[in-house]
Amino acid sequence: MAGTVHVLGAGLAGLSAAVRSAQAGQRVVVHEAAKQAGGRCRSYYDPALGLTIDNGNHLLLSGNRDALDFLSAVGAPAGALTGPAEAAFPFADLVTGERWTLRPNAGRLPWWVLAAGRRVPGSRARDYLAPLGIFRGAGKAATIGESMACEGLLWNRLWRPVLLAALNTEPSESDAGLAATILRETLGAGGRACRPLVAVEGLSTAFVEPALAFLARAGAEIRFGQRVRGLGLAQDRVLTLDFSDGSEVLEPGDRVVMALPAWVAADLLPGLPVPQEHRSIVNAHFAVAPPAGSPLILGVVGGLTEWLFAYPDRLSVTISGADRLLDTPREDLAAAIWDEVARLTGQAGAPLPRWQIVKEKRATFAATPQEAGRRPGARTHLANLALAGDWTATGLPSTIEGAIRSGAVAAAIFTQDRAALRGAA
Ligand SMILES: Cc1cc2nc3c(=O)[nH]c(=O)nc-3n(C[C@H](O)[C@H](O)[C@H](O)COP(=O)(O)OP(=O)(O)OC[C@H]3O[C@@H](n4cnc5c(N)ncnc54)[C@H](O)[C@@H]3O)c2cc1C
Repeated sequence: MAGTVHVLGAGLAGLSAAVRSAQAGQRVVVHEAAKQAGGRCRSYYDPALGLTIDNGNHLLLSGNRDALDFLSAVGAPAGALTGPAEAAFPFADLVTGERWTLRPNAGRLPWWVLAAGRRVPGSRARDYLAPLGIFRGAGKAATIGESMACEGLLWNRLWRPVLLAALNTEPSESDAGLAATILRETLGAGGRACRPLVAVEGLSTAFVEPALAFLARAGAEIRFGQRVRGLGLAQDRVLTLDFSDGSEVLEPGDRVVMALPAWVAADLLPGLPVPQEHRSIVNAHFAVAPPAGSPLILGVVGGLTEWLFAYPDRLSVTISGADRLLDTPREDLAAAIWDEVARLTGQAGAPLPRWQIVKEKRATFAATPQEAGRRPGARTHLANLALAGDWTATGLPSTIEGAIRSGAVAAAIFTQDRAALRGAA
């Protein structure tokens, strides 16, 4: 098809749309406001730590099919994402000192819940049936709290930590439909789909740089420092892209994929419904190499720390749904979290190493039924405009998988890629 695909935003949704459009033989131009690509999924040098870190620790699972397809499409280096050979999630309880490893078996039939050594200590096989209520609540705008009992040992040690990490919203108030999709695509698909994967060399090395290199090889143009300030609209199409230094007039065959944050998209396209509420994530980074034998990722209950990532040059903590911590002084957070990390890594009482606290205020949209109901699809009433972004109606929460899937779907609208559209939520 003649004409250019203009992609607005070079986060993963925009990069995914650009890559899929270029693969289909389209001419592609990407317009990105920042000086770098990656958006909420990128690496940068942090002078306080003296290290290159990610804007947030990101966990993927081997069932994240679209993310893995994207990495292979752009030729990401082997080992861009690493993790254990089998699904295994070590956990620690800061209150009781207990440790255990959750080990779902590889296949779909979940016999692991019958094996005491594979499940949460103190839980019974029948306790694992509780989330079935989530599937009944899906599609009814119900919360998880309305769909299953949000209490008890297994809730505190498994369902709450896992759902909180995936939804970045207190699970009891989160949308059952989003939770159902996650459960279906991960635990429901068997341990094979649940191997944890981490970009140990950084998110930019894994996702962003290979995508930019792919786009350069395909002849796509990436324009950094290009903030879209407005869209010139006719009744049925976008006519111009407006920047501070002038407007780009679109040719008749040109199309636009808008892969911008929800609030920016709503400003540019009045009347567009978008999620309004967001939730934050706090990350704590400590410039200290993990002790030998530290698991790549450790689930933690009973403290502030929720997930502890052991990178070769640092220990990093993720705290999801962290709005309650936004006003806590960074020094206090660093001290309290380090105290927990030191205990978890067998160095209780060790002095606080160089640290960094990163508070991402609008990390994800709030995964409540109300906000989920505000997500628009990829198609718009304008013939040459499609939407992408983790906040569009992918059926998934705000995740890398959702962002990449949304970009592929937006691109498929213009390339008439029926297979990609069928795969969409
Ligand atoms: C701290 C943190 C931890 C996370 N952890 C995980 C995790 O463990 N697992 C997981 O799967 N996901 C995780 N996520 C979510 C994941 O990062 C996002 O879902 C994904 O990166 C969103 O990509 P996107 O392209 O939709 O949006 P964005 O990354 O927000 O991209 C939007 C782009 O548009 C650009 N832009 C904005 N305004 C304009 C304008 N006017 N003109 C041009 N460009 C503009 C921005 O600069 C940006 O590059 C996490 C997010 C955060 C913040």
